[in-house]
Amino acid sequence: MDFWDDAYRTTPPWDIGRAQPAFIDLVRNRELNPGRVLDVGCGTGENAIFLAQNGYSVTGVDVVQDAIRTAKAKAASRKVKVEFRDGNALGLEFEEGEFDNVTDSGLFHTFQDPDRSVFAREIARVLREGGKYFMLCFSEKEPTDWGGPRRVTRREIEETFSPRFKINYIRDSSFATRIHDKGGMAYLTSATRLAKLST
Ligand code: SAH
Repeated sequence: MDFWDDAYRTTPPWDIGRAQPAFIDLVRNRELNPGRVLDVGCGTGENAIFLAQNGYSVTGVDVVQDAIRTAKAKAASRKVKVEFRDGNALGLEFEEGEFDNVTDSGLFHTFQDPDRSVFAREIARVLREGGKYFMLCFSEKEPTDWGGPRRVTRREIEETFSPRFKINYIRDSSFATRIHDKGGMAYLTSATRLAKLST
């Protein structure tokens, strides 16, 4: 995970010091289930802190210990209760069905193909039946001239998260970064954890 550790030696382009506007809208529209939220790849915690400020019981997980330290310090100085811990989204240390929601701002689009299915299985495992997954990723409409993470297609999202999830929508959205004036072209996905198959 050297790449991610290195990324946090300076302020990375995604670390905008506030919650993603797309997540602010989700809260405003009351799209999350009440209760617990797991924010995977939480970085320095802005989205997790924002969710906690809005009444959710939030746990944030990231592979970079420095990012987790920063997130904890921010939550403490803003007097917000969030549980931040280091951990790998591809092998989550949580029980089955613990969470009512999983949020993902910019993690899924960093995975290589083989990890995508591992990740989908993991978040399905920690979500209860009816639990919701919200994911913001760069879409194929975002130009590739500046590099950055993978661009993701609707079809790839559908293929990865079915059949464990019902896809509620995959919507054009925007990713706020430190290098885009008006945000990057993104997809916001909402998906609901289906009942486990009895077989
Ligand atoms: N959600 C944050 C960070 C997005 S960048 C924000 O919106 O600011 C992607 C984040 O995922 C980075 O913080 C990186 O350290 C983390 N990450 C990458 N691979 C991971 C993995 N396997 N498990 C958990 N976190 C991971």
